[in-house]
Amino acid sequence: MSINNKLQAVKETVPSLVTLVAVSKTKPPELIAEAYEAGHRDFGENKVQELVPKYETLPKDIRWHMIGHLQTNKVKYIVPFVHLIHGVDRFKLLTEINKRAQNIDRVVNCLLQIHIAEEESKFGFSGEELMTLLGEEQIQQLAHVKIMGLMGMATNTDNESIVKMEFKRLRNLFDQLKIEFYSDSEDFSILSMGMSNDYLQAIQEGSNMVRVGSAIFGARN
Ligand SMILES: *Cc1c(COP(=O)(O)O)cnc(C)c1O
Repeated sequence: MSINNKLQAVKETVPSLVTLVAVSKTKPPELIAEAYEAGHRDFGENKVQELVPKYETLPKDIRWHMIGHLQTNKVKYIVPFVHLIHGVDRFKLLTEINKRAQNIDRVVNCLLQIHIAEEESKFGFSGEELMTLLGEEQIQQLAHVKIMGLMGMATNTDNESIVKMEFKRLRNLFDQLKIEFYSDSEDFSILSMGMSNDYLQAIQEGSNMVRVGSAIFGARN
């Protein structure tokens, strides 16, 4: 199947109110251009050194999502153009994004990454950490970042009940934080969860942004 056909097949399973981010990491710009020609605009990358050249060569109306772990010293390269940074997993990163965005008079959209999976290696805040952090004045003073919601990954397992439970936990935390800290604001409205293997479950549990790579672009090496 062509990229176009695979993209359409995935799109048919994603409700219109859910944003489909096509994860193009490791794939060449030509494949992204194919999906772009088919009308797709949201693409996700996980490495700054790959994202920047792709931004430079591809059409400028692409909405680029940075979905990977972001090093503080690389923030400055993506702040001028990035549409949404999904993986904000520490306060220091948020202050760096704010500083770089302020320098160029931009407001950068961010998602706070939550650690829900069992795996030790996954980055992110715990629920308690976020409850504390969002209540602090220092976070409210960051005028050049906009906290748009949460991002999380479920454990990579065939056990559907574990995945379902983790998505439910993330959804509950999202609702709780919204009520507690953003009840009078539209900002906190994105729940980014779900990848090729589990995005249908994620949508069932309330995801409104899915990050789908291999189901669209094929397996990665
Ligand atoms: C690679 C990646 C994806 C997409 O994974 P697939 O299984 O190929 O859909 C989604 N989210 C993050 C954070 C990723 O790194």
